[in-house]
Parts: sequence; structure tokens; C-alpha cells
Amino acid sequence: MNIAVIGTGYVGLVSGVCFSDLGNHVTCVDKLKEKVEMLQQGEVPIYEPGLKELIEKNSSAGRLKFTTDLPSAVKDADIVIMAVGTPSLPNGEADLSYIMEAAKEVAAAVNSYKVIVTKSTVPVGTNEKIGNLIRSYTTESFDIASVPEFLREGSAIRDTLNPDRIVIGTESQLAQDMLVKLHGPLTDNIIFTDVRSAEMIKYASNAFLATKISFINEIANICEKVGADVTRVAEGMGYDKRIGSSFLKAGIGYGGSCFPKDTQALIQIAGHVDYDFKLLKSVVDVNNDQRYNVIRKLESILEDLSGKTIAIWGLAFKPETDDVRDAPAFEIITSLLQRGAKVKAYDPIATANFKKIFDHPDVKYCKVAEEAAHDADALCVLTEWREFQEISLHDIQSWLKTPILIDGRNIFTEQELADTEFAYYSVGRPSMN
Ligand code: NAD
Repeated sequence: MNIAVIGTGYVGLVSGVCFSDLGNHVTCVDKLKEKVEMLQQGEVPIYEPGLKELIEKNSSAGRLKFTTDLPSAVKDADIVIMAVGTPSLPNGEADLSYIMEAAKEVAAAVNSYKVIVTKSTVPVGTNEKIGNLIRSYTTESFDIASVPEFLREGSAIRDTLNPDRIVIGTESQLAQDMLVKLHGPLTDNIIFTDVRSAEMIKYASNAFLATKISFINEIANICEKVGADVTRVAEGMGYDKRIGSSFLKAGIGYGGSCFPKDTQALIQIAGHVDYDFKLLKSVVDVNNDQRYNVIRKLESILEDLSGKTIAIWGLAFKPETDDVRDAPAFEIITSLLQRGAKVKAYDPIATANFKKIFDHPDVKYCKVAEEAAHDADALCVLTEWREFQEISLHDIQSWLKTPILIDGRNIFTEQELADTEFAYYSVGRPSMN
């Protein structure tokens, strides 16, 4: 089939590339000329394991193209997939301006029957609005479908090629058949729903995962006070099939381009129908506060942070990505600076993206982990990159001025710390002094 994908971000690019790998002819469209030029030259604007190789393979097979020319891509396509951003507005609602703009451009280009799919995460009712908007621009026939995306950055290709499920929300049998043909090679587990339920499935899924994270973080906070170990608690809980072991890792809270904005958007969606989503509001509050435990722990040891140098390992919101959107590191570093500390920061991949947003004279971005830790008064681990776990604690101890380690992701074990002199504080586990 011929597919046009609008938006070559984490979702659009990965989806387009994977659909081409299944043998479809895919044209990926972006309005950013520089991004498209990079992709045309075989360079990848985002970090995602395996993506570059897959782009090379499918571009050279002639199945994958990149363009800024949306109308041509749409005209040639059987299925048009919109995967543009839906960031938060200041009031927490989803900003639909990009998707509506893309829909308008698609509408103006429709020249024959198309299935027009929204992959972006959009509030319930948005696909209906998109359908009405397109109908106001064209008399050509088309169908609308909501096919929300569940991939995770860092394992986006694996997730796209082996999804837990595909959700297809459409009122049209023809659209459903075409989308089954497209997704059939990926999984047998395809759920068919109405459009509104498909839109809600995405928000409900992210809200539930965020709830699991805030839940285990609160259990962790209690564990610290009662002398229990949250990693053992989570393990013991996770064997219960009704609970499941995933998303029960205590830490400094969730960040990234999805959970923070999607939880806020669902609170707003509920608010618009006069429903006070109390549980989700608490999930957000717990998450917003959790990151400050790093500061509280530092202050409990160092007391006054003014004039101190704090090393930060990890700027990305999670490992294996260069995405820093809503990363907890922003608030943590801001708090350190407000308290008069200086920061030396290192991330294996995400430093450039972080620095673009957060350039400050008291933050030194380092090229290697050792440089950040060297002569620092304390080290805080904010992202669980494997690289950090592979560094010897004895080396870390020798680099630091004082052996103080705040492990915001519980990456080190008690055994590893046994013969070190660290004052060690993690999340929901006994501290070691
Ligand atoms: P992104 O910001 O990385 O990429 C969006 C891209 O769309 C940008 O390159 C932008 O230039 C382009 N764009 C915007 N308007 C356009 C237009 N009119 N024509 C052509 N290109 C246009 O976004 P993302 O992270 O890929 O997320 C896209 C959507 O998918 C969001 O709704 C998000 O919530 C959802 N989602 C994201 C993830 C994730 O892990 N990132 C996972 C699941 C769902």
C-alpha cells in the first residue's frame, strides 16, 4: 500500500520506517525543511536504537521517502497517518493546533478515497472534529480512523514491530479492512472500537501507567520511614498476575513527552464534562513532588547547598533516548541553582538537547561521566543509563570530593556498596552512611 505519514517525530518517523519495512511504500512528511534534508541524506534527527539502519535499508530499497511536499504525498497515498505533536497548553489541555493545521493541509490535497488516521494522542471527540473539518474542504470521499500509538521511546522499533495490541477505532468497514491489512503483519491482537473509545484507550492507558508509578513511589516513601525495601515489595507484588511487575520501579517520578501532558489532558477532558478526576490529580501531585526528594536528601546530608558542586548523571527522562521533554532533571537542577549550588551534568546522549533549553553559567555540561563527578560534593543519578551501572563505585568514590551518592533510580545494590565509604541514599530502600 501507499502510505503518507505526516510528522517525522518519534512516532511518525518510527511508524513510517516500520511500515516501509513491511513492504509498503511510505512517504514521510515534515514541515521542517532541515529535518527532511537530514533524513534524505541518511542522517537521523532523533536517537532511537536501530532506526538509522532501518532507514538506510528501506530508503535504498526504494520504499521510503522523505519530503516537505505534503500535497503530493497525500495524493499518492491510500492511507494518510497524522503523527504530529499534541503538546500541553498552559492550562493542561492538549494543543490541537498542529493536528488541525495538518488536517487542513491533508483536506486540501485529497484527490480520491483515503483513510485518514490520527496516530497523535488527541482528546475524545477530536477525530470527529477532524472529519468535519476535512468534509468542509473537499467533496472527495474519505474515512476517519483513530489508531493511537503505544510505542515507548528507546524501544520504539521493537514496540512498533511487536505491539501488545493495535487499536483501530473507525465507523467504516472499508477503513477497518485497509488498516487490518496494514497492521495485520504486526500482531493478531487487533481491537476494533468506535472512534471515541479508541481515543480514550490511549489516555486511560497512560493515566493508568502513571498511576502505577506514583503508587509505587508513595509506597517507596513510606518504606523509607518504616525500614522496608521497596524493590522487594515491588517484586513481591509483581508476581501477582492481577498486578503485574511492570511500572513498579520506584524513582524520581515520570517525565517525558507523554505521561505529564496526557495525564493533564485527561484531567481537563474529565473537567469539561464536570467530572473531577481526583485520583489522577493526586497521581500528578505525587509525581511533581517526588523529584524533590533528591534535593531533600542532599540537604539532609550537606545542609546548606550554597557553594557546593553537585554532579548530575542523566538528563534524559529515561535511558536510551535523547528526549528531554519534561525530564525531572530540569526541576532538580533549577532547585540546586536556586540554593546556590553549581552543577556539573553528564548524559550519554541527551546533553545537546538539554543544553539547548537550559543554558546557564552555573551548569557545566561534561563530555564524560568522570568529568562531571570529578571533585563534586555529591553525585545524583537521575537516569538509569546502563553506562552508569557499569562504572565501578570505587572509581566514583575516588573522583568525588566527598563520597555522597543520591541514587534516584535505584541502580546500585547493597552488595556493590558494601566495601565503599558512600553515604548512599536511594528511593524506598534503606540508606547507608
Ligand atoms: P514530535 O514533536 O517528536 O514530532 C512531531 C513532528 O510533526 C515534528 O517533526 C513537526 O515538525 C511535525 N509537524 C507538525 N505539524 C506538521 C505539519 N502540519 N506537517 C508536517 N509535519 C508537521 O512528536 P512525537 O513525540 O512523535 O509525538 C507525536 C504524537 O504521538 C503526539 O500526539 C504524542 O502524544 C503521541 N505519542 C508519542 C509517543 C512518544 O513516545 N513520543 C508515544 C505515543 C504517542
